[in-house]
Amino acid sequence: MTSTIYALPAEVVHLITAGEVIDSLASVVRELVENSLDAGATRIVVSLWPQQWRVRVADNGYGMTLEDLQKAATAHSTSKISSCADLWKITSLGFRGEALHSLTTLADLEILSRPLGGDVGVRVVYGYAGERLYVEACAIAPGTVVTVSNLFGNCSGRREALPTLAQQMKAVQATIYQIALCHPHVTWQVWQNDREWFSLCSATSIGQLLPQILHQVKEADLQELKLEIPHPENSELRIQNSALHLVIGLPDRCHRHRPDWVRVAVNGRMVKSSELEQTILSGFYRTLPRDRFPVCLLHLFISPEYINWNRNPAKSEIYLNQLSYWQEQISTAIAQALRINSTSVKDAVHTTRVGKLLKAAEEKGGYNLNRSLPSEEHKTDEQTSHTTSLQLKAVAQVNNTYIVAEHPGGVWLVEQHIAHERVLYEQLCDNWKIIPIEPPVILYQLSPAQVSQLQRIGLDIETFGEQLWAVRSVPALLQQRDDCADAILELSWGGDLQAAQVAVACRSAIRNGTTLSLQQMQTLLDEWQRTRNPRTCPHGRPIYLSLEESALARFFKRHWVIGKSHGI
Ligand code: ADP
Ligand code: MG
Repeated sequence: MTSTIYALPAEVVHLITAGEVIDSLASVVRELVENSLDAGATRIVVSLWPQQWRVRVADNGYGMTLEDLQKAATAHSTSKISSCADLWKITSLGFRGEALHSLTTLADLEILSRPLGGDVGVRVVYGYAGERLYVEACAIAPGTVVTVSNLFGNCSGRREALPTLAQQMKAVQATIYQIALCHPHVTWQVWQNDREWFSLCSATSIGQLLPQILHQVKEADLQELKLEIPHPENSELRIQNSALHLVIGLPDRCHRHRPDWVRVAVNGRMVKSSELEQTILSGFYRTLPRDRFPVCLLHLFISPEYINWNRNPAKSEIYLNQLSYWQEQISTAIAQALRINSTSVKDAVHTTRVGKLLKAAEEKGGYNLNRSLPSEEHKTDEQTSHTTSLQLKAVAQVNNTYIVAEHPGGVWLVEQHIAHERVLYEQLCDNWKIIPIEPPVILYQLSPAQVSQLQRIGLDIETFGEQLWAVRSVPALLQQRDDCADAILELSWGGDLQAAQVAVACRSAIRNGTTLSLQQMQTLLDEWQRTRNPRTCPHGRPIYLSLEESALARFFKRHWVIGKSHGI
């Protein structure tokens, strides 16, 4: 299928933000690749010769007819929209009809194309401002090959103003990664100076693609979620249903020292949106160690009438209608992804940690088979059982520290103190109560800063004599504790209310070393499983280690046929 290219009417051109989009090698790659994706390509080959300022993008998209090729590089010519109303129905990446035209003013442009189903290919060489200079028939597979050479050859000042070629190539790679993550089903091959530079295999989801780009991350460290989103209630606009794809790095397994992998894409393009990024970061509040940031990729598929892509010519920022509605949906989705359910357990089978543990055990045991761990074999139809919680049954306590819990798919070790800390912390956040106590707790030698800190978090405190203070109300959880005075002192050392809640939860949680009955352990497991963020404690430490049946079966070589393993 090809569509026809027309010049946009003047009234539409006026509504489109004017501005040059071609300012670097990376922007050339972006514009050409986006055209390939708009043409339905599933295979894209990008070749770069940076020293020659040359870029070629070849795709297997639906191609162009000779008629379209003649108009493709003239000013404001596009096949993607035709009227002002279409600006609110944008489903393609391009719509400005400017990229190819700009390229003819900044570089040499040549396009080879053969429409899908057409039996001839055509090569067109364009002159300045997009008029065609030369046309001939050529042999080419269905699709399009666009070559841009001698970029900025006629304005050397622009070349000089750009960063080094090495830095520009980094930007090219980042651009391709960003686009690839928004279109995981595409296969990419990228060449530099006639040698393969990198490639990406097509994937069924962002989570499957991400490990090819971010090598430290394994698919099993990620949790993926795809949700349909209903339309905002008060909205009359409904062109299309909306959906959300989310991939998070499980907080007990991966996090970063910068928020560089908090990314937001909308309808096929990564955008900068500090509001949505902030929503993501808040979704991970108190699940990660201090000063660490989550890995989280969010792709919103929103009905196009909510989006104005005209915020800047490169479309890297947008105006989003009903922003707070989408923010709520994101928070809900992140909360769902962070919970433990049967899906995440099966996905967790081949964690690096378990892999390492097993490897260590195998080495000690004299086995060293050095087999790579299969990654997909135990995936079943779990996608359907998203919200079912896991049947965790307490079976024993080890070292008065770990609860051994079994479930149909394996065995978990849960650290009792931090699991309880997570439970208490969430209870405290939901229900922070300061209650009066009689007699008061008496404290000595407090500094004015400590007194005002206790007042700030809501305690009732007054002087009680020389260097003495009476605390007449305390957080409900601390009331019965023998070490209540010490706990209050700890709270007086600073931090905001949340920090105080973390401190109280930590102090009140069952200590390691405490013997627990089976019933107590079961209650703790049940309460812990119901928490919003069961994977990590409020300081970001992991709470459980899972040994899934499939990993255990592998370790114990249960697949061995007895006769064979006995050498019979
Ligand atoms: P826009 O993408 O905004 O429409 P461009 O200048 O990038 O503007 O491209 C102009 C037109 O050329 C597109 O609307 C499309 O019809 C056609 N085109 C460009 N690249 C390709 C391609 N790789 N495959 C098929 N058609 C293409
Ligand atoms: Mg385009």
